[in-house]
Amino acid sequence: MSNLFKENLVDAEQTVLFGQRLSNACEFATCIYLHGDLGAGKTTLTRGFIQGLGHVGNVKSPTYTLVEPYELATWQVYHFDLYRLSDPEELEFMGIRDYFSETSHCLVEWPEKGVGFLPKPDLDLTLNYVGEKREVLLQANTENGLRVLNKL
Ligand code: ADP
Ligand code: MG
Repeated sequence: MSNLFKENLVDAEQTVLFGQRLSNACEFATCIYLHGDLGAGKTTLTRGFIQGLGHVGNVKSPTYTLVEPYELATWQVYHFDLYRLSDPEELEFMGIRDYFSETSHCLVEWPEKGVGFLPKPDLDLTLNYVGEKREVLLQANTENGLRVLNKL
């Protein structure tokens, strides 16, 4: 069983669909770090992830709020964007630990800004530019992460 996964995403719609597929493969609370340059598709994929769990409506980038919460039928999803975090210690003040629970999935854009204050991820997800298109790479770091990859 491999702890790596790779797939091509030919357009934004495919990125959304992949996000949906990913959330449906998460049986247990899952923490996912999202890597990739600005505009690579991290927020687009997260939109699919959240919509895949039943959210209807917009998923906006939490660039200024740092985190956007979603209360869905069976899961809470916390979408973080730490791009504008100046000091990782701020995460301590916002009670970061409470977000990571047995009933929540957490997706974190720019996790490197929160080093030392975030739990280790079940999955590292990277979006790379391939010309105008994208590829998604997943690496599982935990048993739960492996289980997710296996279900994709
Ligand atoms: P990020 O959160 O990584 O900064 P966004 O999701 O906000 O990126 O923006 C990604 C942009 O790229 C959007 O304009 C989206 O329509 C586009 N996009 C997403 N996935 C693909 C893809 N697979 N191929 C081409 N364009 C894509
Ligand atoms: Mg984004």
